[in-house]
Amino acid sequence: MPALFRTDREFGTLQNWVNGERQTPGTETFVPVYSPYSGKEIASVPLSNADDIDDAVNAARAAFPIWSETNIKKRVQVMFRLKMLLEDNLDELGELAALECGKTPGEAKAGIEKGIEVIEYSCSMPNLIAGGTQEVSNGVDCGLSREPLGVVVSISPFNFPFMVPLWTVPIAITAGNTMLIKSSEQVPLSALRLAELLKEAGLPDGVFNVVNGGRVAVEAICDHPDIEAVSFVGSSKVARQVYVRGSQSGKRMLALGGAKNHTVLMPDANPDISPPGIVDSATGCAGQRCMAVSAMIGVGKIDPLIEGMKAYAESIELGNQMGAIINQESVERIHRYIDQAEEMGADVLVDGRNATVEGCEGGYWVGPTILDNVTGEMPIAHDEIFGPVLAIHRAESLDEAIEVENANPYGNAASIFTSSGEAARYFSRKANAGMVGVNIGVPVPREPFSFGGWNDSKFGVGDITGEGGVRFWTKEKKVTVRWFPDSNRSWMD
Ligand code: NAD
Repeated sequence: MPALFRTDREFGTLQNWVNGERQTPGTETFVPVYSPYSGKEIASVPLSNADDIDDAVNAARAAFPIWSETNIKKRVQVMFRLKMLLEDNLDELGELAALECGKTPGEAKAGIEKGIEVIEYSCSMPNLIAGGTQEVSNGVDCGLSREPLGVVVSISPFNFPFMVPLWTVPIAITAGNTMLIKSSEQVPLSALRLAELLKEAGLPDGVFNVVNGGRVAVEAICDHPDIEAVSFVGSSKVARQVYVRGSQSGKRMLALGGAKNHTVLMPDANPDISPPGIVDSATGCAGQRCMAVSAMIGVGKIDPLIEGMKAYAESIELGNQMGAIINQESVERIHRYIDQAEEMGADVLVDGRNATVEGCEGGYWVGPTILDNVTGEMPIAHDEIFGPVLAIHRAESLDEAIEVENANPYGNAASIFTSSGEAARYFSRKANAGMVGVNIGVPVPREPFSFGGWNDSKFGVGDITGEGGVRFWTKEKKVTVRWFPDSNRSWMD
């Protein structure tokens, strides 16, 4: 039984959050929300339709003129207060996110803390968007300002119920936009709680709205004429569709997709930090994060390091140190990939199939799993598994390892474990990914650096957090000014 964590909570029938309050949507379609810890229904969530989206957009449109004209220094105050509220309520919020998405409360809290970094960054918005002026020819000044876009939307996946909304909300709102969040229908509770906290922090009604739903809601968002920009985070297949559909209706779009992150393990890697570093990356959040290492390429004689990984993976206590899988369908998908790789000749070094957790027998569990001697023709080598499964390929040289990494169609993260500066530098230059780590299994860039991958892991230009976020959620205005000497008159003339 997971320690200090109530998994028996129920939330009843959920609503949307529109214009500063809970609002019953018009849709008659509701689906159950299950906790991955117990497999029990904890809520029922509406699948909003186009009219429900319209209601939320109208609230955001109505709030835009006043919010966008509110001085930036006042807008920032809301974020200062939100940061404090999140910190004061961190335990409660961590348990809420854990309950609905299956993470451990500790992992869920770490995600919120990462979101708080974005809030802190957005608190420096008066400096970040300060612009500048220059006399571009004699007597002519040109100045730059960053302006909000209008009504914008952030669509989020199941695996970080607070963190992914917090990648976008602080920057978009502080920049003066008004906003809708369309959170994943599998984890609707956290975004609704975030709405309450934003209200408590003093955000005016209508500036932030939450619409629950799935595909129908997303398509209505892509097509809505009064939405200016949409960020999406989810699987690559859907990210591509959303990017194309939203772009067709003239919106600014950024769609982050899935991943197959590779790490290279060199024989000279530090034997103390490398095995746990790689296994933690593969199994943290039960492998359900877009930065998880899911493929490792071992170069040369690395068997002692693999022994260390095996021992470390076997020591992970499911339910306490590692959480659950989002749903039963995903458990079955993960099992299929492992079964198939085994049938095709991979060696299962650590087997997480048929795992259970005492007191949480109805939950969705897969334990840490490591497969060795995986080869390119096995689907597990190149598909995103999104579970706590590490596929080990073997290579003779660093160049061969880089070839395997470069051949994968995704490009979120790549990393190397080595004690050679030369190998690290060479790999960093050659890796075909937007976020590269050296002796770090989860190389998430921290503010002010932006989060974003390459290739099939991202559709659109720019990144979602940091400087990329400021650019995405604002538009530049250039004002060129010339005053004539004879206009030097008093208004009373
Ligand atoms: P998903 O693509 O199934 O869902 C993401 C969002 O899209 C949800 O809000 C969902 O309601 C909506 N959606 C689902 N199907 C849709 C459809 N057919 N049309 C329109 N909208 C649809 O993703 P998920 O399972 O919730 O999340 C896991 C995926 O997200 C993984 O692939 C993971 O790698 C990716 N992810 C990427 C990042 C990143 O930064 N690149 C971060 C977190 C998660």
